[in-house]
Amino acid sequence: MSNVIIVGGSVVGLGAALALADHGHQVRIIERSADQPPSTVEEAASWRRPTAPQFLQSHAFASLGCNLLRDRARDVYDGLRAAGAGEVNLADYSPPTLGDITRRPEDDDLRMVLSRRSTFEHVLRERTLARPGVSVTTGETVRGLVASGNRVTGVRLTNGTAIDADIVVDATGRRTAAQTWLAEAGLPGRDVTSESCKIVYYTRYYRQLSERPPGPLNRGFGAGGLWDHYTAVLFLGDNRTFSISLGVLPEDTAMKGLREEEAFTRAVRATPLLAGWVAPGNSEPISPVYAMGSLDNSLRLPVDGRPLVQGFYPIGDSLCTTNPSYGRGVSLGLTQAFMLADLLAEHPVVDEVQAREFTARSTQMVRPWYEEAVANDRGRAALWEATVQGRQPQRPPAGVVTFGTAVAAASQDEEVWRRVANVMMMLKPPSALYADDEIRARVGKVLSGGPPPQLPGASRADLLAAVSGDLVAQ
Ligand SMILES: Cc1cc2nc3c(=O)[nH]c(=O)nc-3n(C[C@H](O)[C@H](O)[C@H](O)COP(=O)(O)OP(=O)(O)OC[C@H]3O[C@@H](n4cnc5c(N)ncnc54)[C@H](O)[C@@H]3O)c2cc1C
Repeated sequence: MSNVIIVGGSVVGLGAALALADHGHQVRIIERSADQPPSTVEEAASWRRPTAPQFLQSHAFASLGCNLLRDRARDVYDGLRAAGAGEVNLADYSPPTLGDITRRPEDDDLRMVLSRRSTFEHVLRERTLARPGVSVTTGETVRGLVASGNRVTGVRLTNGTAIDADIVVDATGRRTAAQTWLAEAGLPGRDVTSESCKIVYYTRYYRQLSERPPGPLNRGFGAGGLWDHYTAVLFLGDNRTFSISLGVLPEDTAMKGLREEEAFTRAVRATPLLAGWVAPGNSEPISPVYAMGSLDNSLRLPVDGRPLVQGFYPIGDSLCTTNPSYGRGVSLGLTQAFMLADLLAEHPVVDEVQAREFTARSTQMVRPWYEEAVANDRGRAALWEATVQGRQPQRPPAGVVTFGTAVAAASQDEEVWRRVANVMMMLKPPSALYADDEIRARVGKVLSGGPPPQLPGASRADLLAAVSGDLVAQ
């Protein structure tokens, strides 16, 4: 069994520690944040994590990750439910326009756990640290690697201390310094590809006061939509909480006012699908508005043709980030964590073969989602830019399935709906939606009858008026 150091003790570092400990490895997590971790769900919600600011943002946990926890870390899954997390199956929330759908056995996998990110990580942390073989050091920052030849043999802390390990896992997130560490250790760097998601998020948390959901739950895990200049989505959380996130173009300066609580509330009220949720008596806000931008789709893979670094494995956001709108990050990271544990069981020796297998499996896992996110973001950002600038948007060429056309057709065709749901939940790869002849034909048929009815959203003029406060009546 190996001695493993995991750098970064956030959601993916914890997931990796759990997966590796369950395979008998000795794991030490090194986490730079010195904060006292929360001991209750409520403390977790007010935990401040400057080194992982997305902790404060809305999270939906795709079925891929939820099923993985149910199947391989049942105590975490059950722990989430015991901590107040809900559970839904998306097949119970198919669009009303489809009528009664015919349930299939595989629909059972379209399960999602409904939880705030803070509760999710709190439970994962408790269950992980309860495992024999896992230790955590907080308040220490890794600043470099120790290497011998092409092999990483440990890490160096800011205070100069070197710690040996058979394997080092980089779970330091989207701001990983691994490129610098590799260069300083004389090891080949990674090929970094990135492109802006062109979106900034504004998020606020609420506690539901009404007995029944005060609005439609058209997404199962919540409600909301994507329109031609903004997106607004409500995420059901644990313990009768929910959050609402609004997404706009970063350069849409008129929307900067969404930082203000009153402007945020007016914008939610201007969005018919969500207005009821924030009506007086139905809920109360339990947080300020949290903004987050500077988001990239990014991929950091070994450079083709260069020797592979052995014993140093990036997972989670340090390997790949995708636009948060698609809710993929946690599922992708947890899948890599379990993949690494399985790989070490098959190839316990740290060598070229292990490094090659890790690279092949992780590349196959993340590249399709990265490419899908880039393509979707380009299409969505072009549409938003046209609307904001008052131009006619370019429509996708006929015969091409895009996220927008697939989602539109899903309201009219059960097969398309099921495929969209399975790809959104990461149970099928993006190619099953965008490069499938049957789906292409079905989407084409639906759209040949004209665009299906849109979900009700705020017009550009209405949203501008709501954010500026220049309203006749709200
Ligand atoms: C706005 C937003 C919304 C999102 N919504 C969703 C969603 O709905 N669903 C979903 O699945 N995903 C979502 N994501 C993505 C998800 O949050 C990330 O994929 C996830 O946090 C990645 O976890 P991680 O452990 O890899 O990195 P992080 O959570 O970023 O953690 C990295 C950790 O490493 C530590 N660290 C960094 N450097 C060092 C060092 N040198 N030494 C020691 N420790 C170090 C940091 O302190 C931190 O704790 C969202 C992201 C954003 C930005």
